[in-house]
Amino acid sequence: MKIIQKAGMETVTDRRHEFKHVSEWGGGLSFNVDEHGEPTSDSANGLFNAPAGMMNYIRAILGPEWCPYGYEDEEGTDTSFEVINKGVVTTERQIRIHRRGLCDCGRKVYLDRFTNPCACGVDYDMSGRALAPRSQWGKETGEHWSECF
Ligand SMILES: [Zn+2]
Repeated sequence: MKIIQKAGMETVTDRRHEFKHVSEWGGGLSFNVDEHGEPTSDSANGLFNAPAGMMNYIRAILGPEWCPYGYEDEEGTDTSFEVINKGVVTTERQIRIHRRGLCDCGRKVYLDRFTNPCACGVDYDMSGRALAPRSQWGKETGEHWSECF
């Protein structure tokens, strides 16, 4: 196995356009945006997949003159809201990058567990060393290989 990615930490930047409710319980709306402030496809409320999420975004961005508040949804609930535009909030977080190797069969294998199987049948330890075949696991102790996994 050839190691193709070292383990480590990486900084990820999250950007959200946030809106705070004016007169309700104090909650608000938040939409994931890119570096230009444009909503991304994974925005909160399934923005691009759910009409309600898109409606909320349009109403929050454009305001009442473009999309009046005060409509009732199909259950008769008044869904009106008024928000304060808090702008784009940027936060950073650290994520763990797992070691990754290239098996002799050509497949990529994450090495993030005690035992890391490749689809070809070879198992690797966390450092990328190939383990003995599973048929040999537990021979000394009488265990089935699945008890050693
Ligand atoms: Zn393989």
